[in-house]
Amino acid sequence: MSSPYDLRITGGKVFLEGLGPSDVDLLIRDGRISGIVGREQQADAAETVDVTGKLVLPGAIDPHVHLGKDIRVPRDPDDAERESASAAAGGVTTMLVYLMSSSSYTGEFASARAAMDSNSHIDYGFHFVLGTPEHLEEFADYMGLGVSSFKFFMNFRGDEGKYLGMPGNDDSFMYDILRKSAEHGAMINPHPENIELVRMFRDERGDESAGPLAVWNAARPAFVEAEAAQRVAYLASVTGASVYCVHTSSREAVEAIARQQASYPNIFIETCTQYLTLDTTSDAGVYAKVNPPVRPREDVEFLWKAFEDGLIDAVGSDHNARHRSNKEKDIWSASAGFPGLGGLLPLTLAEGLRRGVSLDTIVEAVSTRAAKLFGMYPRKGTIAVGSDADLVVLDMDAPSTITAKTQHSAAEYTPWEGTELPLSVVHTIVGGRFALRDGVLTDQRAGSYIPRAHSGAAALGG
Ligand SMILES: [Zn+2]
Repeated sequence: MSSPYDLRITGGKVFLEGLGPSDVDLLIRDGRISGIVGREQQADAAETVDVTGKLVLPGAIDPHVHLGKDIRVPRDPDDAERESASAAAGGVTTMLVYLMSSSSYTGEFASARAAMDSNSHIDYGFHFVLGTPEHLEEFADYMGLGVSSFKFFMNFRGDEGKYLGMPGNDDSFMYDILRKSAEHGAMINPHPENIELVRMFRDERGDESAGPLAVWNAARPAFVEAEAAQRVAYLASVTGASVYCVHTSSREAVEAIARQQASYPNIFIETCTQYLTLDTTSDAGVYAKVNPPVRPREDVEFLWKAFEDGLIDAVGSDHNARHRSNKEKDIWSASAGFPGLGGLLPLTLAEGLRRGVSLDTIVEAVSTRAAKLFGMYPRKGTIAVGSDADLVVLDMDAPSTITAKTQHSAAEYTPWEGTELPLSVVHTIVGGRFALRDGVLTDQRAGSYIPRAHSGAAALGG
């Protein structure tokens, strides 16, 4: 005879939306939360796991991930396995992965699914990068695959997108993308940088004595991000599109977007863990080279203020697994980007709480809001009856240290090497199954593809 429940999580402080940490037990059946009950309530569960004194949050959602050796499309089992191991170790239970190709995504989708299924430790969905006229013609087909959010590189002018095989684009192509996404209830995630200005500053090459990250910041100053963010946000209002500004790094960019939000609401802001925790003086040096660059300390402080005020919708990692051999070069020749999936939740949570940001605001930014914006709520992003049993259990009194080893990524380094945190991830549960148990990865690789019918305003019901 089988038990009515597969798993009972008992004794924890369970984060319930609107209520905060609550003294309840969770009953899980068939991968979903099927009961939220008092400690005393009897229930027949096949297994009971005691998490007394620990904090139970909805699994984190990383809405900004790149996978694959060439960071375009996951093609091999280990592209999915190694990097999703990093996610599971850090309490991330769902990731949205950018597929980047100049070919039709109908084919790329199939090969990416083949690489992910049976190999990913966590659930996943995709965003597609739109770069060719053919992509726009196939827009409705892509929606039919359950992909409702699309990236657009504003900086791919002339030859800038050649490394991905993308032709140069312009504002008329962007306008077309925005118009199309509004028609279909999708969302556009632009990479906002004014590349014409970047080229000019790059050629000028600043004073290297300031250190590699300061030089890189000077080569791509904040206003080139702000100018592009403002332009796409304004065109969103003209077309009625929803726009999600990825990896917002600076005060200038947040303020530029906020000015547009005052007259048009469907513009959303993502920042990344690195912009909340690293600055131009960080020890990580060239390892932390990324676009947009990590900024001076004043921007980090401003972003936390914006975070606390609810201006930041979501935190992503912009994870990519570029190997360390591509980074151990001078600042001009090193690759941009680094792995961050494993640090997203522990770093944001620890730093946010240290600064006195409420747990509600943090959970919203690392889980709930992304689920809502990307059409996964309430299946994801909340602990509620009927939701997927995606949970992270944290010991808030057990210090841990981030190293390349704890991050598992094939990249074999982390810009946060040696960072000490006051907390540890104990268990990560994906669809009712342990992906991380007592701090150790399991061999569970049952992550599923999550189709998403709509994103942005259409997903929010607005
Ligand atoms: Zn990215």
